[in-house]
Amino acid sequence: MASRVIPVDPFDLVIFGGTGDLARRKILPALFRRFVAGQIEGDVRLIGAARGDMDRDGYRAMARAAITEFGGEESARKKDLTAFLDLLDFVTLDARGTEGWEPLAALMRPDRIRAFYFSVAPALFGDLAKRLHKHGMADERSRIVVEKPFGRDLDTARDLNRTLARHFSEGQIYRIDHYLGKETVQNLMAIRFGNVLFEPLWNSQYVDHIQITVAESVGVGGRGDYYDKSGAMRDMVQNHMMQLLCLIAMEPPAKFEPDAVRDEKLKVIRALDPVARRNVVRGQYEGDGTQPGYRNQVGNRDSTTESFVALKAHISNWRWAGTPFYLRTGKRLRDRASEIAVVFKDAPHSIFGADAGRHRNILTIRLQPNEGIELGVTIKEPGPGGMRLIDVPLDMTFAEALGPEEADFPDAYERLIMDVIRGNQTLFMRGDEVEAAWAWTDPIIADWEEEGATPLDYATGSSGPDDALMLMHRDGRRWREIRP
Ligand code: NAD
Repeated sequence: MASRVIPVDPFDLVIFGGTGDLARRKILPALFRRFVAGQIEGDVRLIGAARGDMDRDGYRAMARAAITEFGGEESARKKDLTAFLDLLDFVTLDARGTEGWEPLAALMRPDRIRAFYFSVAPALFGDLAKRLHKHGMADERSRIVVEKPFGRDLDTARDLNRTLARHFSEGQIYRIDHYLGKETVQNLMAIRFGNVLFEPLWNSQYVDHIQITVAESVGVGGRGDYYDKSGAMRDMVQNHMMQLLCLIAMEPPAKFEPDAVRDEKLKVIRALDPVARRNVVRGQYEGDGTQPGYRNQVGNRDSTTESFVALKAHISNWRWAGTPFYLRTGKRLRDRASEIAVVFKDAPHSIFGADAGRHRNILTIRLQPNEGIELGVTIKEPGPGGMRLIDVPLDMTFAEALGPEEADFPDAYERLIMDVIRGNQTLFMRGDEVEAAWAWTDPIIADWEEEGATPLDYATGSSGPDDALMLMHRDGRRWREIRP
């Protein structure tokens, strides 16, 4: 059974930075796939706006090449691609100058939803907002979409929020965290709040600890310049991992509505204890003979930027007091695998005796690869020979459970851009959430800077520095194997 697609209302979408990497790799292919799915119909205008000499035909040719490269199987549908490209227009525009703004305003149609995707460096966000306002494009039909990084600390995030708030209300600002657009992440909410089975156990009485891992096998690649000024804490923990933690830990919102959900997430962030120095480990990958180490790769011999972080967090509220949350993320690790594991406590008493071993229920939510959910349950090992217990997974890999067609989910960007057009902010971060997240991560980063120590080395293809293993071992726990 194919899923039902409801077309969105007609809209005009301007992609500032429409010739950049993000537009080519993600935004244009996502729009095309929604067009093929029938969610975007003909009465739509998609306008690339960027610096540089280009006309409409040049932009369409660039978009064709980008979609062919990054658009997946659908891009083979040449007729659809040609029809989609007909929706595209281009304006040469300077975010900081006067060029292009009048022609852009002339292209916008009355009575249409207007979305402006700020796919440019954050330093230009204020310029764009100001000029949109000046040229009459910031009205109640307008909404803006901004990407990470949203600031680099609390002060800069506050400045950015204030700048945008001069011309747009909070209800018009869509701060993208593409993790929230992932199917499994939303399934996390469905699992928790759509079943009666889990919620009664979802607290410190039954949950021993929670592990959140986002492991990448690649290094910084061509993003070295950007990454070296950022690091794993700013690039991954403050945004994506905090969002995962919030969805795992939050109280049930009264409704699945934007502010109801975001209020609950905010409460989680505000309930996080400051992290003691001994509960944070940071690392930097070494070269392995074929690939350069971190410092070589970013061209900064003295860099103290971390490409790995592991930490133990505590949420001080009734539900979670006493249940630690262990987070780790890094580059050049053994495998590319992201998951959340809810590790339940041991049964209070084993009727099977010590020989039966120690068995635990673990609920694993896999974000990538093989999106799916797995519940480890304990059963009797089949056959004679007494009561021996083993753990088996109740595995629901979505592609297997739902069939390949249903499991061919829209990519996160497809879903999120459609949510912008529909005006649904549930899966976007609110300004106060972003600020609260920085307020929690800032002291950790400040402590590193004050300490002046360098991150610990770890081998390419490993699970990170040994100290990260110790972070768990000293609590009598261990990380789950990183495996795809
Ligand atoms: P990019 O450098 O590839 O592209 C930048 C775009 O901005 C180009 O189209 C360029 O013409 C345009 N531009 C630059 N100065 C301009 C000006 N003064 N006026 C008008 N247009 C101007 O950058 P990108 O990788 O596409 O990233 C865009 C934004 O998205 C950044 O904020 C980045 O941090 C964020 N982001 C990117 C990725 C990614 O995968 N590339 C992922 C997450 C977030």
